[in-house]
Amino acid sequence: MRTVGSVTTVPFDDATVRSARRLFDGAERVLVLTGAGVSAESGVPTFRGAGGLWREYRAEELATPEAFARDPRLVWEWYGWRREVVRRCEPNAAHLALAAFAAGRAGVEIVTQNVDGLHARAAHATAAEAAGRRGGRTPGGARRALPIELHGSLFRARCTGCGRTFEHDEPVDARSRERLPACARCGALLRPAVVWFGESLDPALLGAAFDAAARADVCLVVGTSAVVQPAASIATAAHASGARIVEVNPEPTPLTPIATVSLRAAAASAVPAIVGQHENPSP
Ligand code: NAD
Ligand code: ZN
Repeated sequence: MRTVGSVTTVPFDDATVRSARRLFDGAERVLVLTGAGVSAESGVPTFRGAGGLWREYRAEELATPEAFARDPRLVWEWYGWRREVVRRCEPNAAHLALAAFAAGRAGVEIVTQNVDGLHARAAHATAAEAAGRRGGRTPGGARRALPIELHGSLFRARCTGCGRTFEHDEPVDARSRERLPACARCGALLRPAVVWFGESLDPALLGAAFDAAARADVCLVVGTSAVVQPAASIATAAHASGARIVEVNPEPTPLTPIATVSLRAAAASAVPAIVGQHENPSP
């Protein structure tokens, strides 16, 4: 037994790892669905509970369109702070193993609820490493490792005027309303390109995620409590279309009863074990 945060996990055994690996070996299409837990070992704060407060505010008070309309400076100040906190975090072994898995074979789609950009950073790191090995040529598989970010990203912004979305990862100067990021095209105020409480998910991204669910032979669910909708229903949709569910989570979730394999383990140790390269392929 060992302790991950406040959770005690039973070490996963070789037989469980082998049965998960066999599912991936036999699968043509794999959907990977991740939540906050995949980034826990990178040190990304959850913004929940006593330690998760920023000043006196709860996330629910700042991550809303109403809060932004009332006080965009305050909301940008918070997002600027979150950006800097997450920038100091690194993709962990789970993000890296998933990026290598998706880049290395066709038919793997990564869908995340996280806004921390760590899957994308892992994809770029994997591509850079592979390009180094191949004399500077970026392998075609690198793009495949980029995730569908259902809830957006801390490192993108969207124009409140013309609606365009930009990569936007520079430090935010939130000392006054006038200094807040503005659109290079139309001059209107930019906002963080994340989905706030009370907002809908991008239908195109959601459609792509449900398409991947309908096609998947295996759905690997990592570090999500599977209670936030509609993301949680993506896994059940995959299951309803015939996919086997593999779950990695130190705690049971509503998906556990339908999972073919459940690893009660932390992502950074379990995910590389089940999707990493075979050093001694098991029979
Ligand atoms: P959640 O907080 O509801 O659940 C996290 C899950 O991760 C729990 O089931 C927990 O048991 C599990 N977990 C904890 N440590 C783990 C580890 N080391 N390895 C594997 N699993 C571990 O998170 P959620 O389901 O993603 O939903 C929360 C919402 O909050 C989402 O909408 C998400 O966008 C947002 N959020 C994002 C981030 C981020 O971007 N990193 C962080 C916090 C919250
Ligand atoms: Zn604009």
